[in-house]
Amino acid sequence: LKISLLSIAFAGVQLTAFAQHRTINQRVDSVMRLMTLDEKIGQLNQYSGRETTGPVTQSTSITDAIKQGRVGSMLNVQTVKNVRPLQELAMQSRLKIPLLFGMDVIHGYKTIFPEPLAESASWDMSIIRQSAHIAAVEASAAGLNWTFAPMVDIARDPRWGRIMEGAGEDTYLGSQIARARVLGFQGDKLGGADALMACAKHFAAYGAVSSGRDYNDVEMSEHQLWETYLPPFKAAIDAGVATFMSSFNTLNGVPTAASNYLQRDILKGKWNYSGFVVSDWGSIDQMVKWGYVADKKQGALKAIISGCDMDMMSNAYIDNLKQLVAEKQVNIKIIDDAVKRILYKKFELGLFDDPYRFCNEERQEKALNDPAHKEAALHTAERSIVLLKNQQGLLPLQKHGQNIALIGPLVKSKRDLQGNWIGAAEFGRVVSMYEGLTQKLGNDVHFTYAAGTTIKGADTAGIGEAVAVASKADIVIMALGEAGDMSGESKSRADIGLPGRQMELFNAVKATGKPVVVVLMAGRPLIFNEIADKADAILYAWFLGDEGGPAIANVLTGDYNPSGKLPVTFPRSMGQIPLTYNGYKTGHPYVATSNNYQTGYMDVPNTPRYAFGYGLSYTDFKYSDLKLDQPIMTKNGAINASFTLTNTGKYAGEEVVQLYINDPFASIVQPMKKLKGFQKIALKSGESKTITFKIDNDMLSFYNQQLQWASEPGSFKLMIGSGSDDIRLQSDFKLQ
Ligand code: BGC
Repeated sequence: LKISLLSIAFAGVQLTAFAQHRTINQRVDSVMRLMTLDEKIGQLNQYSGRETTGPVTQSTSITDAIKQGRVGSMLNVQTVKNVRPLQELAMQSRLKIPLLFGMDVIHGYKTIFPEPLAESASWDMSIIRQSAHIAAVEASAAGLNWTFAPMVDIARDPRWGRIMEGAGEDTYLGSQIARARVLGFQGDKLGGADALMACAKHFAAYGAVSSGRDYNDVEMSEHQLWETYLPPFKAAIDAGVATFMSSFNTLNGVPTAASNYLQRDILKGKWNYSGFVVSDWGSIDQMVKWGYVADKKQGALKAIISGCDMDMMSNAYIDNLKQLVAEKQVNIKIIDDAVKRILYKKFELGLFDDPYRFCNEERQEKALNDPAHKEAALHTAERSIVLLKNQQGLLPLQKHGQNIALIGPLVKSKRDLQGNWIGAAEFGRVVSMYEGLTQKLGNDVHFTYAAGTTIKGADTAGIGEAVAVASKADIVIMALGEAGDMSGESKSRADIGLPGRQMELFNAVKATGKPVVVVLMAGRPLIFNEIADKADAILYAWFLGDEGGPAIANVLTGDYNPSGKLPVTFPRSMGQIPLTYNGYKTGHPYVATSNNYQTGYMDVPNTPRYAFGYGLSYTDFKYSDLKLDQPIMTKNGAINASFTLTNTGKYAGEEVVQLYINDPFASIVQPMKKLKGFQKIALKSGESKTITFKIDNDMLSFYNQQLQWASEPGSFKLMIGSGSDDIRLQSDFKLQ
């Protein structure tokens, strides 16, 4: 009898796999009916392949667990060669439920694109979507079906190393980018052969950890949470994001993996989210370390009840859930709900129909060597660069007959350009700034080089040589900044100045009197006041990925006219942090400054060094003729605001026109401006275009004291400009 029941069980799963006409819910239910409690708990368990010594296939504990149906997903196992054998083991399990394979594919898999913060400076949703899509094409060809991206945490503290992984400080921009990235990774509908499941992380408020210290506590008002930190997560859901990840931080005293409020009330309640939630790495275990629960069993109880569906690397579910069910502390319905959510995604991905659909060597070979990906990485890198300063039109460089000195520890670097979270990157693929420039201009320009110093070290011995090299040149280009591994997870810095002796090197080179262009590379906003004051031109080049060198060369020579705008405020002083563009009008001090940062310090100006939305071009744009099609808006209506944008300079270029709105009287005091729209417009020299923004009620709404999203009638101010501190046109209007 036992045997025949078992064979019926096998047949059942097989049947579900072929019964395409049935809905996914029906197929999930038919698998659920066959599952033992152990098998159900197994689906909630995720292991890392990186934690074993040697190939995972040689780690008996993991391979046995897979064969026993005690693993639902693996992370950090990649390439068809490594994924296939594990999926084969899953096919040896009683019910043959396929595994999910996840990895942090953050800014490219094999082809490394600019870091997410860098790419956000493009304000170009189509290239952001494209880079996520290419990452998915490569990673899905290499056996993966799930990326732990995008990170949609709003980040307002550049000390926090993970600021590099997100879209910066602004909720509106961050929400648009969250959407673009989810659509890029997943496509319009989950289940494409060259797409990955995306994961909106880290839920929630991880970007607001105290003083930028990673993994820490977050104390935050409800209002701030809803107004600033949650919207990008909602935008990810609206774009169809398949999964969520909770975070390492506590939110108002509760570790987020144990937060009923976040996971059940908001995510699965108010937002009716149907995907599943994975914990962060070991974060159920971390509850013990926080002193929130006595042991991992209590952690498992809190997490599963609060809506955490999958346990990443705590071993808390696999070791304790069965007993918790037996003790009637956990209702089986809660486990069933979690399992169903995970199985649903496996069906949607098509894994039940073909567990090896992401395991095709030929496709892998082709996808990982597609020259179009390199090309896309170059265009993305060009668009991510921000021109911060350009005195007397020093840039673009003349392409002929010059002696150019290249100085600094990042001139020849490859590894650093890839930054952090680099998938299956190969350093050999990176084209350095040195190679980018010499390959482009080597025939017509004479280049010399000196490193001068190292990135982080205390060595000054090379400065003399650098000065000598600079003295013989017509122009100096310096590459300074952080090392690629100085930002990212657990890479918080208390001092975000230039590390090592680089500022000394800059000052010594500058003292030669030669014109100096500084190319700054970093994963975060750095503070570099002396360079900002004294350099003749400055490019912010973040970490641009494999094609960083050619992208920098194209921008320096004007073959690409820079169009990036800062997605985050650059402070002048560490003490100003956190500093954002959307501050308040306090009425103090009584002498209003011309900017929005009126309340401040005795010892530094209240303004940032470079404001959110700031970025120069080689050409000039004129904003004129703002017209509103009506001065009064009804609740369900809209106003169209149109203006003319003209390229008045001599180069073709792109401008990011930004729309800000201010609500001067409201039941919750409102910031002096909030970004509510932007468009990236390309214009030839001399060309004009009429640009229109449609303003609707949603753009005037905020979370009120009852935490309802609503607008309040009255006057509003609309501002259109080239940066948050560079408003060119404004007008008042009324909401009835
Ligand atoms: C990070 C996550 C990441 C996970 C898996 C954690 O340490 O916080 O963002 O997805 O590791 O690598």
